[in-house]
Amino acid sequence: MEKNDLFLRAKRVIPGGVNSPVRAYSAVGGTPIFIRDAHGSILTDSQNNRYIDYVCSWGPMILGHSHPEIVSAVCEAAGSGTSFGAPTEREITMAERIVEAFSSIEMVRMVSSGTEATMTAIRLARGFTGRDKIVKFSGCYHGHADSLLVKAGSGVATLGIPGSPGIPKSLAELTLTLPYNDAETVKSVFAANPGQIACVIVEPVAANMGVVLPEKGFLETLREETKNAGSLLIFDEVITGFRLCYGGYQTISGIRPDLTCLGKIIGGGLPVGALGGKREIMQHLAPAGPVYQAGTLSGNPLAMSAGIKTLDLLRTKDYAQIEQKTARLCAALGGIFRKKGMPVKINRAGSLFTVFFTGEDVIDYESAQKSDAALFARFFHGMLSAGINLAPSQFEANFVSFAHSDSDIDKTIEAAKKTIQAL
Ligand SMILES: *Cc1c(COP(=O)(O)O)cnc(C)c1O
Repeated sequence: MEKNDLFLRAKRVIPGGVNSPVRAYSAVGGTPIFIRDAHGSILTDSQNNRYIDYVCSWGPMILGHSHPEIVSAVCEAAGSGTSFGAPTEREITMAERIVEAFSSIEMVRMVSSGTEATMTAIRLARGFTGRDKIVKFSGCYHGHADSLLVKAGSGVATLGIPGSPGIPKSLAELTLTLPYNDAETVKSVFAANPGQIACVIVEPVAANMGVVLPEKGFLETLREETKNAGSLLIFDEVITGFRLCYGGYQTISGIRPDLTCLGKIIGGGLPVGALGGKREIMQHLAPAGPVYQAGTLSGNPLAMSAGIKTLDLLRTKDYAQIEQKTARLCAALGGIFRKKGMPVKINRAGSLFTVFFTGEDVIDYESAQKSDAALFARFFHGMLSAGINLAPSQFEANFVSFAHSDSDIDKTIEAAKKTIQAL
């Protein structure tokens, strides 16, 4: 069916025609493609066009779409009942896999989305410390819970301004938003708020303002300041968990947070989230402790089956494979843009990358905002017409999966050459 007809029909009954805003192409214009099916690295839309997919459901599909072993694990689980509202052995297996992969995690609570994981982590940190204020960084996305949907101030430490109507000012004021990669501001905010900060939450590699890597010393400072102040350090590894290695960015950096949020990959494409950390903190969650949290579909058997199968397959994979493919793609893209005399900065962490249309290094939200989003939009649509599905915003990460072949990368480079020539 024609995508314009589908979008019109969708907009009549769904706000903006989509169930998550970025899908609507607001940042790049035009009409979103409607997906009919997906296999491996390839999406097919409602008009039978095929695309090499670099969105990968925003991260979960690290093994490619419709992986046969994951599909059969889900089908098998479905045949035995899709939800019980009672404990199952699969939930223990899932928690054991996560505990085994993360040295900072001793206990795990499964939830149904990354948003629930971060929301619960904040509540737990507040309940555990008896403090109300939290610190986050501008450009980091931690789902859409009220305390976390607070926008950047003016690049210095400011009291929070609600990032969305509907968030009470009194709640937003408790969220202190600081510039990413700015260790000095973190130190001064801790000095100015003694005994008041419950936690710092951070994407250890930022991937929701485009990919931005932590500078040397930044995460170390967060660890030190939180420890000295009796605050908790929360790593939001919803994207980075099992994306850069079998484990999290904490496995690579050696910096151990008090709490970790997971999602995306650990659900193998089904709705999931998880929160884990030290036993003494996790034991504060109900029913072991007083901090309440619950979920009708938490630990859902289909999600657990998809997740466990995904982790078991990932365990046997060599992450250098996807890293090298991504590095080759990024190097080729950089070369093509340079040849054309167009300034771009390509940030990459393992199999995550963003091409920023700016000549300046991108190290935080402010520098990311210097990108030419209009030029990006033209690049995006050129690539889409050439059969390459990139993330439809300048400020998002692109994802390479184990299903991407060398020939997919070659085709993507060829498409980029033609697209950039025409820009
Ligand atoms: C996607 C994402 C979330 C939210 O997860 P949902 O499952 O979409 O609620 C939280 N944190 C980060 C870093 C994410 O990328």
